[in-house]
Amino acid sequence: MTGVMLAAAGCGQAPSRRAQAARQQVAVGGQRAKPPAPPPPRRIDCDQARCVALTFDDGPGEYTGRLLGTLRTAGARATFFMLGENVHAFRGVVRQMALDGHELANHTWSHPQLTALPTSKVRSEVQRTQAVIEEASGGVRPRLMRPPYGATDKRVGAVVGMPEILWSVDTLDWQHLDAARNVKVGVSEPKRGGIVLFHDIHKPSVNAVPKVLAGLKRRGFTFVTVSELFQNRRLEPGRTYTELAPKAAPQPPGPPPGSPAGPPSATTPASPSAPASPSGPMNPAAPPQGAGPSGDAPSPPVADVRAPKVLAPSMLAPEVLSPLAR
Ligand SMILES: [Zn+2]
Repeated sequence: MTGVMLAAAGCGQAPSRRAQAARQQVAVGGQRAKPPAPPPPRRIDCDQARCVALTFDDGPGEYTGRLLGTLRTAGARATFFMLGENVHAFRGVVRQMALDGHELANHTWSHPQLTALPTSKVRSEVQRTQAVIEEASGGVRPRLMRPPYGATDKRVGAVVGMPEILWSVDTLDWQHLDAARNVKVGVSEPKRGGIVLFHDIHKPSVNAVPKVLAGLKRRGFTFVTVSELFQNRRLEPGRTYTELAPKAAPQPPGPPPGSPAGPPSATTPASPSAPASPSGPMNPAAPPQGAGPSGDAPSPPVADVRAPKVLAPSMLAPEVLSPLAR
């Protein structure tokens, strides 16, 4: 107490300069001891704001650094589902990604179809990627995963042990490699709460992003990471998610019981696709938009529908497989 008072009372010019120098030293020393840390997720209520999560798969790559600059200029955050095998060559980019507040997420080590792999390989694809991203980023351990091709099932989900994030808008950027088309689709298709799929390994995709951001901004969107998008929800490991569903109002009244379209009885339980949290896990059978021969069968996960087609022998070249990815 006395010391503090004395110090305050003795605040002359010289001690002040000394204090300033000391503060500078502390700052420099502190910086050395503690490198800059990624900013925390922002508190954005996506039940109120018009949020969209842009996601970039299969990188990091040679255009990713430029993309970070574009996102920084726009004040936008995004989510990167990265391949472990690409991380080492772009360690600085991955570190910057973390510092800019983007979400670093897992897309396996080498982009295999996980449903066709033995469990030990699935585990290694995921765990190696967790480790390399954590190491390169300076300590950020991914909390979300996107299975290549969207291919997952109960076994894979259990091994992954993280929420599996699919998408609601597939821009098909890998297929068309056309920046103008990417802009058109990227601006017009997203809906509130949507998750948009791009690939930052393709130049026309990265080239399109400034206009996509501008166009979506005009439509009133806020750009959030996937974790920010779902921050009012509980994401469960091993479940798949394609978008932020609006918080359901209390169970819709529906037609009165006994009416032709109504439920068979008043005791019908709540919809199985709307468990405890109406905004909880999406029905895994719901196909992500644009995901190929889906939309007809209500049953199997889209990934399983797509898998045989994706893995046709003529498509096994990695260059072809990778973009088919997602
Ligand atoms: Zn992919």
